[in-house]
Amino acid sequence: MSNYNWCHGPNCHTRETSSRVRGSGDNKVLRTRKVNTKHYWRSGQGSWSYFCDDTCMRDYLEKYILAIIAIAPRREALETPIKVEKEKYESYRYQHNGTDYQRVPYQATRTKIRRNDRVDNDNG
Ligand SMILES: [Zn+2]
Repeated sequence: MSNYNWCHGPNCHTRETSSRVRGSGDNKVLRTRKVNTKHYWRSGQGSWSYFCDDTCMRDYLEKYILAIIAIAPRREALETPIKVEKEKYESYRYQHNGTDYQRVPYQATRTKIRRNDRVDNDNG
């Protein structure tokens, strides 16, 4: 198996960078860049195995987005069952008393969203 893919960016070979220049003398070209699939953060089948940078990935998505969406179209919203809990806790704010700022405690409220499909040991 090869250690690289050609970048799939549709405009990769037109971008004017020295990393794309190949050939000699009067026979120079801008060439699609190779993507090293053995590089630690490009390993596996992830999207970064196919694009040399985010510009090329974005160009690809812009050009082929309708075809990609057709593979797995979303025709209705998905939902994740949750519980929403309000929790009171002690907090503080700073209040100016004319000459200085003073730390003033107050009862604050935070909202916790818990997914029903996760085991909750209440460890934070
Ligand atoms: Zn590219």
